[in-house]
Amino acid sequence: MPTGFSSAPAPLRLSLDTAALEHNWRWLAQMSGRATCGAAIKANGYGLGAAEVMGHLSQAGCRDFFVATWAEARALLPLADGLSLSVLHGIRNEDLAEALTSPARPVLSTPDQIARWRNANGGPCDVMVDTGMNRLGLDWRSDVAQATGGLNIITLMSHLACADDDNPLSAIQQRRFAAIAQQVPAERYSLSNSAGICLGSDYHFGVTRPGLALYGGVPRPNAAGHIRQVVTPQAQVLQRRTVQAGDTVGYNATFTATRDMAAAILNIGYADGYLRGFSGRGMVLAGDRPLPVLGRVSMDLLIVDASLAPDISEGDWLSIDYDLPRAAAASGLSQYELLTGLGQRFDRIWT
Ligand SMILES: *Cc1c(COP(=O)(O)O)cnc(C)c1O
Repeated sequence: MPTGFSSAPAPLRLSLDTAALEHNWRWLAQMSGRATCGAAIKANGYGLGAAEVMGHLSQAGCRDFFVATWAEARALLPLADGLSLSVLHGIRNEDLAEALTSPARPVLSTPDQIARWRNANGGPCDVMVDTGMNRLGLDWRSDVAQATGGLNIITLMSHLACADDDNPLSAIQQRRFAAIAQQVPAERYSLSNSAGICLGSDYHFGVTRPGLALYGGVPRPNAAGHIRQVVTPQAQVLQRRTVQAGDTVGYNATFTATRDMAAAILNIGYADGYLRGFSGRGMVLAGDRPLPVLGRVSMDLLIVDASLAPDISEGDWLSIDYDLPRAAAASGLSQYELLTGLGQRFDRIWT
């Protein structure tokens, strides 16, 4: 939002496609079969804006939301009726007072967290079991039923380490989790992220927790063609210039023009999350004409070849090619990083 006395729009914006976001959730809900489909909206909704994502997805019918921290949960209060919000990182001592009065639930991951919640007479909670990733959660080899006895568990969950590749660990985790679900009473059980949903019904249990695919990421090949792009960064042209054959372009002169050409200078750079992996590799779109990135991405600026776009001039807006699988391949970054790295200087415009 513009602040102070300036109400001018920023020279860079994220164009966010509400229909595509809702379409992706509906597709994931359908792929989740009989399981309820939730939404991971941690890290500010993967960079899009958690409150807006929650609003749009609750319109589409989503009820179950997951954030990482209590600060993220706080920013989403008050919760609309019927919505459930889980805090994946559980409760530290520092979080306890807030957690006890919040409508959000902690996802308890350690014996200490469980003791803290019990001693404080905490209410309904979720519990995370580690089934092989060795990240957060009670060890699957421990007596999880005993460790959680007496808790009012809404969601017992685990998290897949390799659902986006073909590692046999996914099936092993699935079996371990199914066995624990037999022993530990909870209102419902949850294993799958976006990629896990695409592994089939054995992985669905009662609730799924997609993040990436909601926002246009393609988690497994069988989701390609079904997931729609949600996020398009757009930047304004600050200058159009002629580059002569033999001239170099940008920091460290990594690009040399072999012919006379035109360049457009855009108001976006690596400080906005358009990282230097796109140097010489990224693509900007003038309508459907692709304009290659020339030389290095600067902190706040980007230089593109505008030879094929003679009509593009100062003040025009250009879209960055941000098809996530393609941009990930071009930049060497993950689809996740391409979303969560998007900076604070964008106006975020939902259409
Ligand atoms: C981030 C996260 C998700 C969502 O994962 P995606 O791969 O983005 O679909 C689900 N569950 C947990 C525990 C997470 O941390």
